[in-house]
Amino acid sequence: MFSSIVAKASETLLPVSVISRLRGGREWKNWIGSLTAEILDDQTNASADLKRRIFKQYVRRVEIETHAKCNRVCSFCPNAIMDRRRDETLTDSDMLDRIFAELGSIDYPHQLMIARYSEPLANPEYLYDRLAAAHRLAPTAQLAITTNTDYLTTDILDQLQSIGISKIYMSIYLKTKERWSLEVARGYRDRLVKKLGLQLLRSDETAVTLQCAFQYKGLDMWSTCHNWDQYGTDRGGTVAQYIDHERIGPCRDPFETFVVDYTGSVMPCCALRSDLPQGRGFAVGDLRDPGVSIFDIYAGQLSAWRRSLVGFGPKASPCTTCSHRDVSNDLAPTVAGQMERHLQRIARPQYFSPLSRK
Ligand code: SF4
Ligand code: SF4
Repeated sequence: MFSSIVAKASETLLPVSVISRLRGGREWKNWIGSLTAEILDDQTNASADLKRRIFKQYVRRVEIETHAKCNRVCSFCPNAIMDRRRDETLTDSDMLDRIFAELGSIDYPHQLMIARYSEPLANPEYLYDRLAAAHRLAPTAQLAITTNTDYLTTDILDQLQSIGISKIYMSIYLKTKERWSLEVARGYRDRLVKKLGLQLLRSDETAVTLQCAFQYKGLDMWSTCHNWDQYGTDRGGTVAQYIDHERIGPCRDPFETFVVDYTGSVMPCCALRSDLPQGRGFAVGDLRDPGVSIFDIYAGQLSAWRRSLVGFGPKASPCTTCSHRDVSNDLAPTVAGQMERHLQRIARPQYFSPLSRK
């Protein structure tokens, strides 16, 4: 304990790039150490108890959307090719209640996030209604939303807080044709603080992003303002400007996240979506069918994605050029060695593929 406190205190004296490398290395090491044969094997025929247990043990975020509509068409988002501004489709409330009840049945303690490719506050009444249902049926889940802030007001913050939301993530986007700079990003941050009466807790800057933490009447809030010329990911190959990356590392998404589209389709990760023809075939289940359980899909169909993404080296479509949470080049040899040794330890060496490039 003492040495970890000293290590953390010493970190604050280091340059930001070194700190993020140290943290990245620690995250990968901890994640690799958490892998078991159970989470990698196909558990389609396992007991209901085992399926529920591995879901609770591994899933850190359940991501859903309450409707289809987003009021924007950002150039770095697949909504640029699938405009949802006039799509008023609501996510089926009975299906959402079944998901919440299943999460409640395991006392799911991690994040339940309203996000994806819609703007939650484009229909605030339906959002409040669904959040209240989530709070009632899965009371231990940590409710959160991601919003582009266009509709955010103090009245809405008060309403969300009274329903029991615990975190709000704010993605700040520039106006069309406006060029990103730290100065511009700081201006957006300062206007948000003023408009919502936020208390700014911290503000972290890099050459391509400004990330801030705030409080509002005890509610935790974060904002990001990225330079999307330098920052985005290719979303399953659908956003052309980001497809020059070659993915080499494992992907933690099909382990740590459980993602449901407004259509009811379960997707392997946040990058893929069922309403695009390119992504439809990657859906691993359909929760509109009342007989389908989130635990069955996670333990069964999603395990194939986990096995295919635990190794190193080039990946098949749709992961070939995905940079989402990829391991950095400087950490890759160390992380690959840790993964190879760990898979041997848990008697699953067949899932390892060595670090190589095309
Ligand atoms: S990035 Fe967010 S705000 Fe922009 S189009 Fe996509 S979902 Fe909407
Ligand atoms: S690597 Fe594949 S599974 Fe992981 S986020 Fe990218 S597209 Fe999704």
